[in-house]
Amino acid sequence: MHIKIENLNKVYSGGNYAVKNLNLEIPNGMFGLLGPNGAGKSTLMRILVTLMKPSSGKVTVNGMDLAKNRREIRSMLGYLPQDFSFFSKLKTYEFLDYAARLAGMKNSAARKSAVDQMLEEVGLFEARDRNANNLSGGMKRRLGIAQALINDPKIIVVDEPTTGLDPEERIRFRNLLSTISARDVIIILSTHIVGDISSTCYNMALLNNGKLAFAGSPEELVKEAEGNVWQIEATEAEYLQINEKFPVISTIPIDGGWEVQVVSNDITGYQGKPIAPNLEHAYVHFMENKLNKWTTA
Ligand code: ADP
Repeated sequence: MHIKIENLNKVYSGGNYAVKNLNLEIPNGMFGLLGPNGAGKSTLMRILVTLMKPSSGKVTVNGMDLAKNRREIRSMLGYLPQDFSFFSKLKTYEFLDYAARLAGMKNSAARKSAVDQMLEEVGLFEARDRNANNLSGGMKRRLGIAQALINDPKIIVVDEPTTGLDPEERIRFRNLLSTISARDVIIILSTHIVGDISSTCYNMALLNNGKLAFAGSPEELVKEAEGNVWQIEATEAEYLQINEKFPVISTIPIDGGWEVQVVSNDITGYQGKPIAPNLEHAYVHFMENKLNKWTTA
C-alpha cells in the first residue's frame, strides 16, 4: 500500500488554513502523525478517510485518485475516530456484529466467525456478553479498533487512540496495532503523545499549524536534536533562571539543588554535559527552534 499527498490544502470558513501545502508519502506499516493540538491532524485524517473534501490538492492511494475513486477507496478503509462512542444497550458482541453488517458482511455464518475471531484478536472474547458502554476505557478503545478492522481494511486510521488510557492499557493498545501493522496495511496513528510514536512507528511526520515540519523516521528526528540536549547540575537560584531561559524536560532533586535536563543549542554560563536525545527531546527541540522560526517567517 502507498498513499501520496500532493499540495494539499484545507481552508475552513474564515480563511483559517488547517492544512497548508502538504506533501507527504505514506508507505506500508505503522505511520505516526505527531503534532500539538490544533496542528491539523484530525483534518488530515478526515480528508484521508473521505469524510471531508480538501480545498485543493490531491491524494492518491496506490495510484488511485481519492477524489475520483471514493467508493473503492472507502471499501479499503478502517477508521477509529477520536470521539468514538457506542450505541447504548448493545452488548460487545452485538456491537461488533452490527459494525460487520454495516461493513456489508451479509452471510451470517461468515459474519459470526469473523466477529468471534476479531473479539479473540483484540482480547475481548471473554467480555463479549458485557454491555459495550460498561467496558473499561482500554477495552472500549480495543472494541473501537475491532470495528475498524472487521472488514479487513488496507488502510487503518486511528485518531488519538491512547488519550485517557492508563499506561498498561496504552501499551496493550500499541502492541495490538504493531501486530496488525506486520500485514500488508498502512496504519496511520495520529497523536500528540510522543511515546505512542517512539515505540511503534518506523515512519512519521510532524505537523504544526497545518504545515509539514518533518517527515522521516523517529531516529532521524532524534539525530537532529543531537548536541542540543543538556544535563545541568544547578543550585536552587540557577534552577529558577534555567526554568525561565530554556525548555526544561525533567528535574530531579539532588544534594544542594537540582539535576535538570534542558533543550537548547547554547547553555553558556551553566555547567552542563551533553546527553543523548530521545524522541521527546527531539520533539521539543523541533517545536522550540525550527517551528518558531518557520511559523513567524
Ligand atoms: P488537531 O487534530 O491536530 O488538533 P485539527 O485538524 O482539529 O487539529 O484543527 C486544525 C485547525 O483547524 C485548528 O486551528 C482548528 O481550530 C481548526 N478547525 C478544526 N475544525 C474546524 C472547523 N470545523 N471549522 C473551523 N476551524 C476548524
